[in-house]
Amino acid sequence: QGKRGTADIVLYDRDQVAHPAHWLMVQTELRHALERDELVLHYQPKVRLADDGISGLEALVRWQHPSRGLLSPAEFLPAAEQSGLIEPLTAWVLRRALDDQAGWTALGQQWPVAVNVSARNLEAPGFPRVVAALVAEHGTPSGRLLLEVTETALAGDAATAADAVVELTALGIGVSVDDFGIGFTSLSQLRSVPVAEVKIDRSFVTDLDTDAPNQAIVRSVIALAHGLGLRVTAEGVETPAVSAWLAEAGCDDAQGYLFARPTAWPHLLDLYLNPRGS
Ligand code: C2E
Ligand code: CA
Ligand code: CA
Ligand code: CA
Repeated sequence: QGKRGTADIVLYDRDQVAHPAHWLMVQTELRHALERDELVLHYQPKVRLADDGISGLEALVRWQHPSRGLLSPAEFLPAAEQSGLIEPLTAWVLRRALDDQAGWTALGQQWPVAVNVSARNLEAPGFPRVVAALVAEHGTPSGRLLLEVTETALAGDAATAADAVVELTALGIGVSVDDFGIGFTSLSQLRSVPVAEVKIDRSFVTDLDTDAPNQAIVRSVIALAHGLGLRVTAEGVETPAVSAWLAEAGCDDAQGYLFARPTAWPHLLDLYLNPRGS
């Protein structure tokens, strides 16, 4: 288990121990980045396997660093999470995502937007209120904002996290269990927390057309999730063979480079409103 997903986490932890000075610098710079609006959001569509329609866009944060270029979240999120900057960062992402959504809605696209939130956000007592205020400010209809939360965020000492999910759900905000399958504590958690969707981790998806153990796992996740009334999304779909296997297995949605890489949202509008050959 844990080909890529878990390996990443180990790597960040090692970095933090090895380079505390570098890490402090990232925190200081990130604080400035938030003030100077240097972060950007790219969006990746979530595609319905049944008809290839878009069922939503996931916001993925990047940092347009003045000297180091476009940085991926792996290069600054760990520092943000450890320092408490994740709270203003998530608030920034939510606001920008809802602003961008107003843009595509005005152009006639009703796409829901999904925002990734950290365990630390979910455990902060005021978090549902912060989200409620942003949603009220934007007039976001029920079901149009989803929050993606990792399985481990729900699985730990999860009383606050579970309460937050209940509150968010009551506000019409769906909660999605991200990186599903690598935590192993999932079944009982899914029963007690009102989540709307599970996203199967990429480590199970990459070789799905040929890897028998992953096929068995994914089939049972789909059956479990559907039995609980949840939608299932597979992430990291890169080949037509994997997409076809997932459609056959009854998976609802898929995301991955096969359909589109994360990009600024107007490009997605081009891609889907002016498809090649029309
Ligand atoms: P994630 O939520 O699991 O997001 C999926 C990651 O896989 C993204 O990496 C995406 O660019 C990448 N990806 C999508 N399709 C494919 C594919 O077909 N193949 C491969 N190999 N990769 C694919 P990214 O953008 O670097 O984000 C990494 C992680 O950082 C995310 O994983 C998420 O946990 C976190 N993250 C991203 N944006 C935010 C944010 O705004 N807030 C928080 N708290 N976390 C974020
Ligand atoms: Ca995600
Ligand atoms: Ca994910
Ligand atoms: Ca993942």
